[in-house]
Amino acid sequence: VHKDHRYFKPSGSFSPIGLATALGIGVVATLVLGLVYGYALAWIPFIYINFFIVAGYGFGVGFILAYAGKLGKIRHFGLMLGLGFLVGLLAEYVGWVAWLHAMSDQELLILDPGELFRGIKLLAASGVWSLSSWTPTGWALYTVWGIEVLMVIGLATVMGGSMASEPFCERCHRWVENKDPQGPFSPECITQELVSDLEDEKYEVLQSLASCAPSDAYVEAELNHCSGCSQLHLMTINLVTIKINDEGKPEKSEQQIVQNLLVTANVHESVKELAARPPGVVAPELPDSEIPS
Ligand SMILES: [Zn+2]
Repeated sequence: VHKDHRYFKPSGSFSPIGLATALGIGVVATLVLGLVYGYALAWIPFIYINFFIVAGYGFGVGFILAYAGKLGKIRHFGLMLGLGFLVGLLAEYVGWVAWLHAMSDQELLILDPGELFRGIKLLAASGVWSLSSWTPTGWALYTVWGIEVLMVIGLATVMGGSMASEPFCERCHRWVENKDPQGPFSPECITQELVSDLEDEKYEVLQSLASCAPSDAYVEAELNHCSGCSQLHLMTINLVTIKINDEGKPEKSEQQIVQNLLVTANVHESVKELAARPPGVVAPELPDSEIPS
């Protein structure tokens, strides 16, 4: 059971200007990407590539929105998810309008949603593309389009919320992005008590962080702090595993042991000292957890 108050938590704050910024950029990006999307789907005849175009569209629209939310300093996860959903809906609409425009050699520009639906119905009856000798029509085609809708809106929503919970200094009113990875440390420091001890500010457990030579399993401590006020210090601890995959290539996977734990400047200094120590050297005393930074 985690002690929530010991971790960074987004404040949920945002301003009307921030909201307008995020929405404005999100809408403009969707209009531009939607046009590219419609023409790409119409002009690229390979159904398999179209799958990636659909995924890329939803991802791209959501990613730009997430960045716009960061620019607008929106620290509200639910709000960004909601904006992602709205932008995803708009993306579907723009995508259909642009696609029909491209498919009709620029003859059709149907903006009215009701008319758009009627046009789609007509297309579903006759079919629009073929896979080998199969030309899906009716429900088969609606199913394909349904998957497309779910992918675009789903990805836009998930991506939209993806950056809203990142560390933010409410004192300096800015995102905290001084990520400073330290390590590699030997994985033996990961014990059952490590997380609860760190949550209880028993930072002496960090003495078990012994630097090690790079290997296929190691621990990385990611330090992050606000350089504006030097009042906010965070620590994330990852267990990194490198496996050789089926293609014989190394694949890195990370397991988060703690994420954005609230610590002190002293803890940061100690972790850096431990990381600089050559492997096998005994760790020095760590500062008492009660000393304020
Ligand atoms: Zn600050």
